[in-house]
Amino acid sequence: MKVAEKMVVVIDYTLTDNNGEVIDTSEGAGPLAYLHGAGNIVEGLEEALTGKEAGEQVKVSIEPAKGYGERHEDMQQDVPKELFGGVENIEVGMQFQSETDQGPVLVTVVAITEELVTVDGNHPLAGVDLNFDVTIREIREANEEELAHGHVHGEGGHHH
Ligand code: ZN
Repeated sequence: MKVAEKMVVVIDYTLTDNNGEVIDTSEGAGPLAYLHGAGNIVEGLEEALTGKEAGEQVKVSIEPAKGYGERHEDMQQDVPKELFGGVENIEVGMQFQSETDQGPVLVTVVAITEELVTVDGNHPLAGVDLNFDVTIREIREANEEELAHGHVHGEGGHHH
């Protein structure tokens, strides 16, 4: 059985940046189960895993265009602090939902001065090369309910 659309794929993975820093890993958390072809994982990783078989190890470096996108500097902006009036103790790293013309965007506080708060609407991994080291543990066909929901149920997937 090969990795293809409508398959549930169970993987161990470690994601590092170009400096070798671990960004995310399944180690400790247990393997990830995802539905192939449903956009559960980044495009570049789906492409790299397509056609592979259980037991194979896949190492791939993915550029931002097929990962979390390029960084857009114009998505960073300064906002008057009083707009955060309801929030006590604003800190760098806090995230807020912001309403924009393109719909709600998750923004991260990246800097604070006396009067201004700088927020960044880029995905935290935008502009970052993603180096994946993946081992495929298991491949099975998705059931109808999983296909309808667009994600995997049970171990390593969604519980609901
Ligand atoms: Zn579901």
